[in-house]
Amino acid sequence: MTGTPTRLFVGGAWTDAADGATLPVDDPATGEILCRVADAGPEDARLAEDAAVRAQEEWARTAPRARSEILRRAYEILLDRADGLARLMTSEMGKPLAEARGEVAYAAEFFRWFSEEAVRVEGGHGVLPDGRHRMLLSRRPVGPCLLITPWNFPLAMGARKIGPAVAAGCTMVLKPAPQTPLSSLALADVLAEAGLPDGVLNVVPTSRAGAVCEPLLRGGRIRKLSFTGSTRVGRLLLAQCADTVVRASMELGGNAPFIVFDDADLDVAVNGAMIAKMRNMGEACTAANRFFVHRSVAEAFARRLTRRMEALVVGPGTRDGVDVGPLIDAAGRAKVEELVADAVRRGARILCGGRTPEGPGCFYPPTVLTDVGADSRLMDTEIFGPVAAILTFDDEDEAVRRANDTPWGLVGYVFTEGLDRALRVSERLEAGMVGLNTGLVSHPAAPFGGVKQSGLGREGGTVGIEEFLEYQYVAMPAR
Ligand code: NAP
Repeated sequence: MTGTPTRLFVGGAWTDAADGATLPVDDPATGEILCRVADAGPEDARLAEDAAVRAQEEWARTAPRARSEILRRAYEILLDRADGLARLMTSEMGKPLAEARGEVAYAAEFFRWFSEEAVRVEGGHGVLPDGRHRMLLSRRPVGPCLLITPWNFPLAMGARKIGPAVAAGCTMVLKPAPQTPLSSLALADVLAEAGLPDGVLNVVPTSRAGAVCEPLLRGGRIRKLSFTGSTRVGRLLLAQCADTVVRASMELGGNAPFIVFDDADLDVAVNGAMIAKMRNMGEACTAANRFFVHRSVAEAFARRLTRRMEALVVGPGTRDGVDVGPLIDAAGRAKVEELVADAVRRGARILCGGRTPEGPGCFYPPTVLTDVGADSRLMDTEIFGPVAAILTFDDEDEAVRRANDTPWGLVGYVFTEGLDRALRVSERLEAGMVGLNTGLVSHPAAPFGGVKQSGLGREGGTVGIEEFLEYQYVAMPAR
């Protein structure tokens, strides 16, 4: 922990909370307190907002090339510090070190991607159809933004918002999740070293999310909210945005179907399932939540998946050879336990796992359930844990209907060797993203996001920067 920032980052300075409050950061592998971090209150949030508002005008005028180069330097610094950042992330969040290293690289890639996008923001000029007017079209940064991130990808979720905001010329107040503030503070340190001017990024960890964020959203100076988290909180924040018409983008929860057809290559499907289910211990919005497997291959699929799940090593993420770290906290694990117990009460069979181990830490074993009842609670609840729930289907229409039978629409996974079926089913899925014979869709160069109650807007890809840009059109006579 030595050298890790633990104070608020406001106006380019590391500060304590105005009321001196601190919050504990726990190691989910031991339950012990790692350190305490300054705990922002409403007054600190106002100071952070002041800093962002003050910096906005000059930051918007900065040359795109200068913003691009700051992001490029941040990309390089992140990679230089990858090992330390991965250890920090594992200690506060629990994921195995190999996954944490992967997340550092993923986060860094957002900075590289948006350093390239920063210099490609284009306007336009033209004569209107009546021939009597000209139009000048330019793009402007939307203004000071509030960024709110969850704990499950503590570095990447911040980078996915900060990258495009910096590229577009927006200033920011970032409120990370209270379980994982250290990664966000480390990110601020990286950006400051990369040359980001004071006040452009401000970071306010807090245990008082509502009291800190609501005044900002209702105050009229924040012009944009970019939120990643649960649909429940997303709805609440959208209502707060309505008062002052704050532009909002929302990356919300998922309930991903994972469909295996009878013509699928089962090795490919099981490999895909291991990623879609077990990445981040199942604590991912993209996690496969409902496995729909054609009746004729369900038993073989379940057997192979169980073999792979049983072979995974559970333990502290810092230990060599560990595949599955602890869940984020006791509440997260209790939710998984309850969902499994509910499924079993309704007739599900446990093929492996399903029993909470003794001892410290929030561990839960990789678990496979079959014969899961359609009325089980885990069918309409994000499990957010290492539990694969398998159901069977008989034909394509049934698979698609049941996959779409949810208010969420973030991602769906489809496994089939038939090209026509692959495209047909992908088109019919109500999802912002589809993994076709793959269990991984996330990539900085691709537009990430959902439909229905999984969100509004996209992050990443060439459209990611759009969320942080406005249009301005200037009309003039064509003389
Ligand atoms: P969460 O409870 O919604 O919290 C997300 C963030 O919102 C945290 O920083 C949280 O802080 C904050 N928050 C909660 N109430 C707030 C309020 N009234 N005002 C302002 N901020 C508030 O979600 P989570 O449990 O941390 O994360 C898991 C969820 O995120 C899952 O649903 C997952 O699917 C979703 N997720 C979505 C994506 C995506 O890209 N679609 C990516 C990752 C995760 P506090 O904890 O202090 O309340």
